[in-house]
Amino acid sequence: ARIAVLNETAAAEPRVSATPETVKKLVALGATLAVEAGAGAGAGIADEDYRAAGATVGDRAATVAGADILLAVRPPDRDSIQGATSGAVLIGALEPAGDRGRIDGYAAAGIETMAMEWIPRITRAQSMDMLSSQANLAGYKAVLDAAAHYGRAFPMMMTAAGTIPAARVFVMGVGVAGLQAIATARRLGAQVSATDVRAATREQILSLGAKPIFVEAVKGIEGEGTGGYASEMSDAYKQAQAELVSAHIARQDIVITTALIPGRPAPRLVSDAQIATMRAGSVLVDLAVEAGGNVEGAVAGEVVERHGVKIVGYRNVPGRLAADASALYARNILNLLTAFWDKDAGRPAFPDDDEIVAGMRLTRGGQVVNARLLQQ
Ligand code: NAD
Repeated sequence: ARIAVLNETAAAEPRVSATPETVKKLVALGATLAVEAGAGAGAGIADEDYRAAGATVGDRAATVAGADILLAVRPPDRDSIQGATSGAVLIGALEPAGDRGRIDGYAAAGIETMAMEWIPRITRAQSMDMLSSQANLAGYKAVLDAAAHYGRAFPMMMTAAGTIPAARVFVMGVGVAGLQAIATARRLGAQVSATDVRAATREQILSLGAKPIFVEAVKGIEGEGTGGYASEMSDAYKQAQAELVSAHIARQDIVITTALIPGRPAPRLVSDAQIATMRAGSVLVDLAVEAGGNVEGAVAGEVVERHGVKIVGYRNVPGRLAADASALYARNILNLLTAFWDKDAGRPAFPDDDEIVAGMRLTRGGQVVNARLLQQ
């Protein structure tokens, strides 16, 4: 198979879908690798590094020409990949829940597409799960971003001139990103508390040495929807949660929010009135800002100030650690290709009846074939 690695043309996307390490491994499987010039620049990888790993490097047209498999981070412009073989497979974070017109466009152009975001969260697919690999880095970076905007130290410091108290950090949403945020804030010496709607996270919070803050008043809440994700909560629960957060948040220095509900806008967890109760100089980091935001007043791509409190809304937080984010994303893709590699054919075979393939394949043979998309 001929595998093309695209240079990301989307603004502010420094990540890349293959690294010299994964290029070598794909070459060892028998693939031919073509990397678009400059593809690794944002992640600190030179064209020369890809050449040394066994790839050719050229412009977009030369890279795509005759490709059987196209690797990307963001969905590429359809016209720019027309030179691929008919039936070529495009693999990337294709935003399957986003612009439907773009997906229909891939179908119309005869491009088979597989969305990394929709790899099912089953044990066999863990090593391919880019939502986890990227969320983990985002949770870490969110804490460092908070620390950078905070005019005080995180750890307690006992000095000859007096004692500095530890920062209080509150993590809202304890999925993959939240767990890493708790661990990172703890390593920096903060006093950490955390909350989630899924009762199962209480033990995880405790095991990281943080304090669980949970709604107790509303009975019968598990908060667990399908596939280990959260579901939308009842009005009574939301009310109880708001009261709990109000009482807690006024004493926090740093709040990191990571709450997402699949297929819905991010839940609103922190109101402007609650921010007003926080001490000036406190920092909120909203990792859900691109999904609508957990924090009232958060602006995607900006750091804004309300009531003397900074609200950090960086976009593409994994991209702020582009080298590591690329290394892990490239391995997620390598693990996918390796799992389905057909040695005799010298290319991957993606059988229709495989659970991973069925979850992530969006288009094939000129049609939209994904069950979730067809239900819409
Ligand atoms: P996510 O990014 O969808 O959401 C982040 C967190 O926000 C979740 O913990 C969610 O419960 C929480 N949340 C949602 N609404 C909230 C609200 N109103 N208030 C407070 N918190 C709220 O979640 P994720 O990080 O993708 O992880 C979801 C689950 O999937 C976890 O249990 C995780 O361990 C599991 N998981 C499994 C696999 C696998 O088996 N392959 C891989 C990754 C994650």
